[in-house]
Amino acid sequence: MSFVSHVECTICGHRHDPARLLTVCETCGQMLAVRYDLERVRASVTKDALRGRPPGMYRFRELTPLDDGEAPVTLGEGGTPLLALPRLAAHFGMTTLWAKDEGQNPTGSFKARGLGMAITRSRTLGAKGFVIPSAGNAGGAAAAYGARCGLPVAVVVPRSTPAANIAEALIAGAHVFTLEGSIATAGTVVARAAPALGWFDLSTLKEPYRLEGKKTIGLELAAELGWRMPDVLLYPTGGGTGLVGIPKGYAELKAMGWLAGALPRFFAVQADGCAPVVKAFAEGAETTAAWEHPTTHAAGLRVPSPFAGRQMLRVLRETGGGAVAVGEDAIREAQRLVARVEGIWTAPESAALVAALGVLLDRGALARDAEVVLVFTGSGLKYEPPPLAAPTDLAGTEAEVLAQVRRAVGA
Ligand SMILES: *Cc1c(COP(=O)(O)O)cnc(C)c1O
Repeated sequence: MSFVSHVECTICGHRHDPARLLTVCETCGQMLAVRYDLERVRASVTKDALRGRPPGMYRFRELTPLDDGEAPVTLGEGGTPLLALPRLAAHFGMTTLWAKDEGQNPTGSFKARGLGMAITRSRTLGAKGFVIPSAGNAGGAAAAYGARCGLPVAVVVPRSTPAANIAEALIAGAHVFTLEGSIATAGTVVARAAPALGWFDLSTLKEPYRLEGKKTIGLELAAELGWRMPDVLLYPTGGGTGLVGIPKGYAELKAMGWLAGALPRFFAVQADGCAPVVKAFAEGAETTAAWEHPTTHAAGLRVPSPFAGRQMLRVLRETGGGAVAVGEDAIREAQRLVARVEGIWTAPESAALVAALGVLLDRGALARDAEVVLVFTGSGLKYEPPPLAAPTDLAGTEAEVLAQVRRAVGA
């Protein structure tokens, strides 16, 4: 028994039995979403009761699809800090800027939330193994959670995937396959391999459970800001799980009467070399079109044909937000800036948000006194660092070494 009422297609509304292991809508092939009996949730839990629970994404257990007593496959995901960024705000002449630092999750990215939830739920519903196409972090997280519960995982990634992502999947015992192309190419292999192996396909948003994990970012943000929402939220967008999941969390809390007012304006941030959502938004299109030759070193943004294009565009338009793309050098510069002024070595994907913030402020699309939250989706440690100054190598006599130190420090 959970608080789930049913699972519903986000496009045609067709209802599915939540007790079955589900993938996409059996009527129209679109993305499914879990719906809850929110009246019953409200009657069963209080904000005070939540405060007394251990931190982490299962603090909001009533708003997850877990059955009563179902033990999650967990590595302690969620419960990441919402960090004020006063020095970065000052750099941009802003008043209030926050980062939800998802790089502090197990496996170093917010993929831990989605894959932890998806593997927990699909395992309970009968999955015997998992296959996943990935741009990097999702494959690593799937491998870790598969190892955690002793089920096999196959990961298919582009050859250009960051080395740390391939290593983390291998060390967790996953079967790792690389190929020429992007996550879209990997997805076509997975679509054929999953039924052949009899393993569950964990492709982004082609099953309804990963979204419920990503949604917990929105639930945590609501609690951390004292049960209110910020004015603006910037999200580095690949497959769009958080872009669809965070507003879902907010909407559920609103329906429970725990939050009031308008949702934040959501902005999707992409790379110039792969910006299908930015293009579709600018053209007023209903969904995204496949992006030819996607290139960016922000691996998680290299998603040329996201499955949930339609759902993402709906969020951007309904919240009065937008979409912006930034260049490779701007991402690298932003990555150094955040580390230098706030001490956070964030992933290139989330550094792109900082580059985009400058663009949006310059365009007048954002007011400098707006309260803005950046979703820092991953740790920078898993990527090739941006170009940095070389360290000063010390050699020679004691006096020479001291002179070298003083010269380098400038004191
Ligand atoms: C996967 C990933 C993204 C993109 O997330 P989506 O939910 O696919 O849009 C952004 N940043 C990092 C670090 C990622 O791993």
